[in-house]
Amino acid sequence: MTRTRLLLAARAQQQPEWASLDDLKRVLRALEQKPRLVDASVCADLTAELARAALGEAFVLQIGECAERFEDATPATVLAKAEQLHRLADALADATGMPVVRIGRIAGQYAKPRSSETETLADGSLLPVYRGDAVNSPEPTPQSRTADPDRLLRAYHHAEATLSILFERDLGLAGPTAPKRTYASHEALLLEFEQALVRPLLDSMGAYGSSGHFLWIGERTRQLDHEHVAFAASIANPVGIKIGPDADPDDVRALVHLLNPRRQLGRLSLIVRMGAARIERRFPALLDALSHEAPGVVWICDPMHGNTRVSGAGQKTRTVTDITAEIEGFASALRHRGLPIGGLMLETAHTPVTECVATREELESPVPLPGYESACDPRLNPEQAKAVVAFMADQL
Ligand code: PEP
Ligand code: MN
Repeated sequence: MTRTRLLLAARAQQQPEWASLDDLKRVLRALEQKPRLVDASVCADLTAELARAALGEAFVLQIGECAERFEDATPATVLAKAEQLHRLADALADATGMPVVRIGRIAGQYAKPRSSETETLADGSLLPVYRGDAVNSPEPTPQSRTADPDRLLRAYHHAEATLSILFERDLGLAGPTAPKRTYASHEALLLEFEQALVRPLLDSMGAYGSSGHFLWIGERTRQLDHEHVAFAASIANPVGIKIGPDADPDDVRALVHLLNPRRQLGRLSLIVRMGAARIERRFPALLDALSHEAPGVVWICDPMHGNTRVSGAGQKTRTVTDITAEIEGFASALRHRGLPIGGLMLETAHTPVTECVATREELESPVPLPGYESACDPRLNPEQAKAVVAFMADQL
């Protein structure tokens, strides 16, 4: 089998080794002909809502799967996820009196950056790692783990189905009360897929990414001179960048200028994921280094990705106490500088899974967590998510 990476290998991290270059080209040509998945005008509405969050007049709640599965694109599952998002957002709005911008990690969250290219099975054999349903499939067989370009087309169609379920729901709720629109977001990881869905803006110069309303660039792909950042700079959507504990303040400043040269409020969110142990030292230092830029940014806390640990049973997990400790460090650094706390991004399940634990003590247990279903990172179950959101509400 010819294994190949297209175009971008040198200047884009985390791109799959597709099984066939010809198939990839065929699929990309097909995607270029497809209708847009989301409207530019709705992306602009979201930018306006995010601008309010940048000013401290609204709060962003962004929740959903680490790795969305194709099988999730059913009315029952999509509606259950939307209800969870809106229930949590309503609770935040009630507790704070602020409007809440509601964004799902949904309708396209099908590609994962991974820290290792391979996974070692219990029998010692080596397989390519699962990279999300847009690339391969989690079952531990060589066949399932092959990066199949036709999965990009399936990603498009599952996103389309998911968006239409969300749209119908929002339409059904439209009326005299304030609209509670569900926006869709995902990590813009698979650049060829994202590029194939770029569409022109009709009322002005430029283009937008029609694969989702809000697109973010991950911690592993935000290199200043690489293609993911260039892609984010080239589209009109509101965009996010993940910021980890080792982010160099000069790089972050350069990213802010590159991605938002006109300082348009709502255009750029920085999604901070430093971990409970490091947020208290690193985040204040970053904010102080960015004293000029920080007021124009939506500061979103992702208290999940800096707090991933391996349990006594060898499972990836996170503790709710680390998650709330990171939220506290995040909020207090912003508060002390008079900057608005812009939002919260969580990885959640809409069913009562047991993937995250309450405290560090529970990490030690050699007994595997019984309800562990995530295809990638450990998610908060509905009760845990409710508690974490209530904790954030108390910080506002
Ligand atoms: C994610 O949000 O699922 C993710 C991989 O995050 P990060 O890029 O911050 O590690
Ligand atoms: Mn994740």
